[in-house]
Amino acid sequence: MNSYDSDRLLESVNDTHKQVMSPEQADFIVFNTCHIREKAAEKIYSELGKIKKIKEHNNNTKLIITGCVAQAEGKAMIRRQPLIDAVIGPQMYHEFKNVLEEVQSNKVIKLDFESNNKFKKLNQKRLIFNKSSFVSIQEGCDKFCSFCVVPFTRGAESSRKSIDVYDEVTNLVDNGCSEVILLGQNVNAYHGLNNLGKEINLADLISSIEKIKGLKRISYTTSHPIDMCEDLIFLHGSSNTLNPYLHLPVQSGSDKILKLMNRKYSRKFYLDIIKKLRKECPDIALSSDFIVGYPGETKADFIETIELVKQVNFAQAYSFKYSSRVGTKSSRLLSEEICDEEKNDRLQALQEILNEQQKKFNNSFISKNVEVLIKGKGKKDNQYRGTTKWMQVVNFEAVKKVNGFETVKIIKASNNSLLGEVL
Ligand code: SAH
Ligand code: SF4
Repeated sequence: MNSYDSDRLLESVNDTHKQVMSPEQADFIVFNTCHIREKAAEKIYSELGKIKKIKEHNNNTKLIITGCVAQAEGKAMIRRQPLIDAVIGPQMYHEFKNVLEEVQSNKVIKLDFESNNKFKKLNQKRLIFNKSSFVSIQEGCDKFCSFCVVPFTRGAESSRKSIDVYDEVTNLVDNGCSEVILLGQNVNAYHGLNNLGKEINLADLISSIEKIKGLKRISYTTSHPIDMCEDLIFLHGSSNTLNPYLHLPVQSGSDKILKLMNRKYSRKFYLDIIKKLRKECPDIALSSDFIVGYPGETKADFIETIELVKQVNFAQAYSFKYSSRVGTKSSRLLSEEICDEEKNDRLQALQEILNEQQKKFNNSFISKNVEVLIKGKGKKDNQYRGTTKWMQVVNFEAVKKVNGFETVKIIKASNNSLLGEVL
């Protein structure tokens, strides 16, 4: 979502500013930040040394912090770090243009939650075009999982109107886009209004945008298991445009931990969804998120996670050590925190299995011909990089110039990518 937001920020000042390729050339340096885990949030502070040097050379360069760290730390950031000239929270991006002016004369803080306003004001045509494009359709979250900062940094759940999404996708497709990835912190909780003022769900929205001529692939992320409604599951079986891929974070395989996390579903509920999805779409590639070492997680709880992983067989996954975040419910469970060494061991054990599963999934593509959506050039002149509809990265060489889609024979596979040759 930060990638999408960064494009939108740039687009909103397109008539007066342009992107430069190095911070030394910039009048404004913008860090679009993530607060989800401590490691992500710390990144900006480790970058500040570089910015200090740049500012010493050019006193007029302004440093602007956007994103969830700006929202969470706000004023305190400016107080602590005089290098920072402005902070803008995710719901105030429509003010970006004004901030670039205001910051010339004083420090600027924009942290209100005016999400409806933002989407309305950002609703001009897109200007940055790629073969595969992100489109935010929903933001914020009301679920309040005990470990998560999102409800505090992105605010309450809100969905864009379906016509606005439809228009944005149409504009992207008219300018060469073939795949859209619909985004939301809780994308399948989407409940935007249609033209008749009626709330529609994500399945309805996808059914409407898949009619856009020239749009070949649709994906959506990130979904919450509790919002995986029947319509959406069926759509995975009936739609020709929806990618056979789903990122569905489970976090833990232990009912005890899921309850403590306030995830609102059980292990069985999750496994039942997987069963239904596979019935509708047998070749679906499943991905997930895991947190290891949540406060109070015993070895036995962790083993339940490992068993769930073995049962599901994921095509890819992201796994993290639990990270305490200020303001969340779990940050108060200090006495039950798991030591770092144990968290490391659990993460390593989990990742070994997940990596094996990912490799096995990728290996199953060797010798197959797959359609690749070309997303860019590789390092060498005749090298290209793209993705399959199962969201695997494919690198391949082609003597002729290629563009759009290409059928590629897979000759090698690794954990993270496939190697192919053009037929
Ligand atoms: N809305 C999605 C997840 C969004 S956050 C969902 O509900 O599943 C992205 C991922 O970051 C989460 O799935 C979780 O695995 C991880 N994450 C969030 N907070 C975390 C924390 N405090 N410590 C470690 N990982 C965390
Ligand atoms: Fe965070 Fe996802 Fe839970 Fe919302 S549903 S609080 S975004 S982990």
